[in-house]
Amino acid sequence: MLTRNKSLKILLVEDDLADATLIEDLLGSFSESLFCLQTVKSLEIGLACLAAEKFDAVLLGLSVSDCLGGSEAIAILKARSPTVPILVLTDINDENTALSVLRSGAQDCLVKGRFHKTLLVRAIHYVIERQRIEEQLRQQAFRERLLGQMIQHIRSSIDATSILQSTVTEVRQFLKTDSVLIYRCQDSVSQLDDQKGAIVAGDGLPLGYIENQNITAALAVSCFVLVESQSVQAIADVSATGLADSCQELLTDCEISAILSVPIWQSGDWETAKKRLEATVFETEKNQDVATSYISGPTVGKPQAPDSTGENRNNLWGMLTAYNNCSGVREWQQWEIDFLQHLANQVAIAIEQSQLYRQLAIANQKLQELATTDGLTGIANRRQFDRVLMLEWRRLAREELPLSLIMFDIDFFKPYNDFYGHLRGDDCLRQVAGAIAQSVKRAGDLTARYGGEEFAVILPNTSAEGANIVARKICDRIASLKLPHARSSIGSYVTLSCGIATAIPAPDVSLDTLIHSADIALYQAKNEGRNRICYASNKPESSPILM
Ligand code: GH3
Ligand code: MG
Ligand code: MG
Repeated sequence: MLTRNKSLKILLVEDDLADATLIEDLLGSFSESLFCLQTVKSLEIGLACLAAEKFDAVLLGLSVSDCLGGSEAIAILKARSPTVPILVLTDINDENTALSVLRSGAQDCLVKGRFHKTLLVRAIHYVIERQRIEEQLRQQAFRERLLGQMIQHIRSSIDATSILQSTVTEVRQFLKTDSVLIYRCQDSVSQLDDQKGAIVAGDGLPLGYIENQNITAALAVSCFVLVESQSVQAIADVSATGLADSCQELLTDCEISAILSVPIWQSGDWETAKKRLEATVFETEKNQDVATSYISGPTVGKPQAPDSTGENRNNLWGMLTAYNNCSGVREWQQWEIDFLQHLANQVAIAIEQSQLYRQLAIANQKLQELATTDGLTGIANRRQFDRVLMLEWRRLAREELPLSLIMFDIDFFKPYNDFYGHLRGDDCLRQVAGAIAQSVKRAGDLTARYGGEEFAVILPNTSAEGANIVARKICDRIASLKLPHARSSIGSYVTLSCGIATAIPAPDVSLDTLIHSADIALYQAKNEGRNRICYASNKPESSPILM
């Protein structure tokens, strides 16, 4: 039997005087006052008593006259005082009645006239204990449910800031503490000495807490303590810990009386995955073909599981810390410690995922750029040219609007390379590409390197006249650059030959016809002496550029 150092307060609801007297005699017969019994005759009065005072248990006689029925009486009692255990005293010696009483929410049932003193006392202790365990289980289930919801919430976001903020808010509500913080350490543990970490999320803090040097310093202290111990810190009373005086003073200055702090460990997996992503982008930069193969899939997917051979060292990412401010000693419960630790692990995973997604987005963007850009000149590459031309062809076929294509070829570029060398040749290509790109202004226009020393400009919704203006502007700009060309047979500077083709696309006509027409026009410009613009049309016409 459990020993208690205070008497148990029992409420007896019994309208049968003889039964009530019997119970009073049984419980009153102890030499020490183990029980403090209050007897009432009706459920209504009993409910009033429960509302006014706290009782350890209720003995409910099921014969009470105002009861609508046993189960209902129990249900009413449970609804009003859910945590008070009920021991039912019934006249009916029947197993089904006992079971239905338990199902209704009572903790035990005795048959009147069939129990003696010891049995009654044991039953009272039993119902109290059972109620306590039931309550514990209920609490545990409730906490687990909440924890599940919180984890789901944390894991559903890939935005680190919102993950951290929702964590501190929910932890504070759940643990009923004054404030909760997440402190981000610097990369290396040793830097904590210099207090270079930062508060990255907080709840229950005064406004401007991040600028509050005292709080930051106090946190740095608690972080430091934690890092030193490499374990959870559950400090019930800051003033009674073995912390250095200066630390204690600091924490007291910040009105912090109790701390529960758990580390957020980040696995080495994240670093491995990050390096792998960086390596992928680097390789792709080195070799444009790799970009092509990457881009043919959707984008870079999730990185594979890190090498088992790779470094798997854990790094201290930060601390999840709950504080009680000036509210005295707080003995942290084991479940609170377990809860916070569990949550910190989930936060660590969520942060890693968020970092990885961010890296992935950057890497994908980089790969996308690499796959669509010409490495030498920085303008669109042939792949992008093909894609855009196809899209515009289809779009303008629907809208029945003209599409113009200008093809450019640098004149006598082979002799240029032979004379100046390939590096100067590359430089010339960059300057020509820049000049073309700068001359093409409209949003839908595209300048691309078609190949070698050939360039192309796509001009959607542009007539032949419009394309001619653009081509002339480009050739004029190249002329104004006055790029020396000592081996040109037609002048002293770099020149271009251009072929223009314009068509209103038709769904049943291949866009190759447009490219072919522009090519023919370009060929014509070459044949007619270079440094000129030719149209692919029924009325061929060439216009030499005057230098
Ligand atoms: P034309 O006036 O008839 O166009 O004569 P061309 O010499 O310009 O034409 P050809 O097709 O004979 O030569 C093109 C040259 O462009 C050959 C090659 O050396 C050069 N070339 C192609 N791609 C590059 C490149 O990326 N860098 C450099 N430096 N040269 C390139
Ligand atoms: Mg060529
Ligand atoms: Mg050429």
